Amino acid sequence: MNDLDWQTYAAETQAIRAGHRRSPEGEHSLPIFTTSSYVFDSAEQAALRFTGKQPGNIYSRFTNPTVSAFQERLALLEQGERCLAFSSGMAAIMAVGMALLKAGDHVLCSRSVFGNTVLAFQNYFGKFGVETDFVSLTDLAAWEAAIKPNTRFLFLETPSNPLIEIADIQALADLAHSRGCLLVVDNVFCTPILQQPLTLGADLVVHSATKYIDGQGRCVGGAVIGNTELIENSLYPYLRTGGATMSPFNAWVFLGGLETLALRMKAHCDNAFALALWLEQQPAVAKVHYPGLSSHAQHELAKRQQSHFGAVVSFELHGGKDQAWQLIDSTQLLSITANLGDVKTTITHPATTTHGRLSPEARAAAGIQDSLVRISVGLENLTDIKNDLRRGLESLA
Ligand SMILES: *Cc1c(COP(=O)(O)O)cnc(C)c1O
Repeated sequence: MNDLDWQTYAAETQAIRAGHRRSPEGEHSLPIFTTSSYVFDSAEQAALRFTGKQPGNIYSRFTNPTVSAFQERLALLEQGERCLAFSSGMAAIMAVGMALLKAGDHVLCSRSVFGNTVLAFQNYFGKFGVETDFVSLTDLAAWEAAIKPNTRFLFLETPSNPLIEIADIQALADLAHSRGCLLVVDNVFCTPILQQPLTLGADLVVHSATKYIDGQGRCVGGAVIGNTELIENSLYPYLRTGGATMSPFNAWVFLGGLETLALRMKAHCDNAFALALWLEQQPAVAKVHYPGLSSHAQHELAKRQQSHFGAVVSFELHGGKDQAWQLIDSTQLLSITANLGDVKTTITHPATTTHGRLSPEARAAAGIQDSLVRISVGLENLTDIKNDLRRGLESLA
């Protein structure tokens, strides 16, 4: 089974079986290779490995069988040629910048990306002479107008956090390519089970494996997926030097996560859709942001681009911060934490946590109201989740 043509198998099968080259011990479950280095048969073989003329393991900063298995599986699921694993999602995003950018380059980034992604481009790449502009995720004309001759890539997340807006990946890939730039998509919210940006024209996909890929909130990790040329010639040499490597233990946890990803995503999305419909009917709720609802501005695009609508729901209450905090503090079951993609449902107040560092004006411009609450819907029984929210919602209504 080790050398089957995995591309001819469905995602559920790839996620469970691809990437494991069984050792002479005949193990059924993929082992964790905890070794920093590898032994060669001869001086000649060592030389061939180091020059890249012979494939094989060298040193676990850049070659490890457990990590390689994870990379192979995730590449298949994203329908990419190659994947490289990193120590975190942010390490993966930093690697894309370090590998592709040089002083004098320009990056065009969605305004609605993970907070540390903004800081990475603005504060760190900015320090070395890379300029970044931020544009509205859903405004294609704004992207087009902001591209410069020196723009190296466009960077976005879709759906966005916390308003769950959707970008048209195909249209943005076409735009990027027509102007000689690349498109990089952070696919954390959808995972390859719901959306495969590379098949829509994106050049690189980045992941925080910390979220749905692990799925149980245990490990931090990241990955970049793309074609052989970009991964082998740009990202791999950077990983080998930069050293933000995924540990074999974490890769082993994430491999287990991938095995149940399709099942979990379906159950997450079903719970989230039902919760969004229910929230829309609550008198204390002013507006629900969820792409599965026909009230969502990009509902048709979401239907076309994603196989399901995702499992993060946000909603505004009548009132402001006090009402949002009251609802959050009334929960007993849900976890008050900004993390997402866990089997445990989490609830957070974006205006004072994930987006608390933005000025009130910047938050208002981004559409993040003080009354906004975000829920990453987990896999607990839906009635229990509703009941945990019902108490607070009824006291507000
Ligand atoms: C969490 C997250 C990241 C960063 O990943 P880490 O693994 O925490 O470094 C990047 N993008 C998105 C959308 C995230 O949710």
